[in-house]
Amino acid sequence: MARVIDGKAVAAEVIEQVSAASVELEAKTGARPGLAVVIVGKDPASHVYVASKSRMAKQCGFKSVQHTLPETTTQAELENLVADLNADPEIHGILVQLPLPDHLDSDRVIQSIRPEKDVDGLHVVNAGKLMTGDLDGGLISCTPAGAMLFVRQTHGADLSGLNAVVIGRSNLFGKPMAALLLAANATITVAHSRTRDLPGICRNADILVAAVGRPQMVKADWVKPGATVIDVGINRIDAPERGEGKTRLVGDVAFDECAEKAAVITPVPGGVGPMTIAMLMANTVTAAMRTHGLTPPSF
Ligand code: NAP
Repeated sequence: MARVIDGKAVAAEVIEQVSAASVELEAKTGARPGLAVVIVGKDPASHVYVASKSRMAKQCGFKSVQHTLPETTTQAELENLVADLNADPEIHGILVQLPLPDHLDSDRVIQSIRPEKDVDGLHVVNAGKLMTGDLDGGLISCTPAGAMLFVRQTHGADLSGLNAVVIGRSNLFGKPMAALLLAANATITVAHSRTRDLPGICRNADILVAAVGRPQMVKADWVKPGATVIDVGINRIDAPERGEGKTRLVGDVAFDECAEKAAVITPVPGGVGPMTIAMLMANTVTAAMRTHGLTPPSF
């Protein structure tokens, strides 16, 4: 059986490091890291995410500000708010919760955030820094940064000679994850919906990362014996065994069968999920320390 990574425990270690850095910042400069979270509309899942981000920010000793805007907010109103937050010296991180309502252009909003405050790591400047190997100068997308921490804890910082396969090529996850693995010297393959013989490609992976959004797609016979399997997917499926109308969360990996082949595996829930918020806090304290001329810890 594979070793199961405890994402909650690793995330708690990151949060401890973030809190210590926040204390150091305040002791040296009198400033606290400031995180502004912006949410537009009533999407219940987004409100749950935003509430837990704001809660965690407070727990880390940050100044946490939440802007809750109505569904009817216009593009100009939202961009004006971002401009105000860009100019606010007490705000070091700006997060606009996605998805935005359909009438708003998410990309234009994200690209209007100052790259130094783009704690989601989605601005083209931050994506570009990552692609050009400048890992210390920008801010890295939170979920891949968290997944990469698992990889480093398992294999060390140098992945020379290892084959990594990332299933999924989104700007949010697949592309930045591939860039992080490449920067650590892995040989990478990025697979997607047009890939031929996906199981065969996955069988070559020493490190297999699935970020697709298809419940339990990766089967045991896709997994190389002894591989590290990182499951990023979050899918809700029916769970009649728990009672009528009940559901449960599963990843993109068929966990039970793959755990028999892999050496290391992440569960869903409790794997990559908790790392996303932890790395958001890490990005915020990093942004704040840079603003004040301090060197942030490496997460
Ligand atoms: P996305 O933008 O929808 O991208 C999905 C990717 O999967 C696309 O590149 C798509 O290929 C590929 N794909 C779809 N069907 C496929 C198939 N049959 N075979 C191979 N590849 C296929 O999703 P995302 O934002 O990257 O997220 C992926 C998953 O991770 C979702 O379940 C999401 O909920 C989860 N997620 C979790 C966290 C977390 O905090 N744990 C954070 C972010 C995302 P094409 O490009 O060819 O369409």
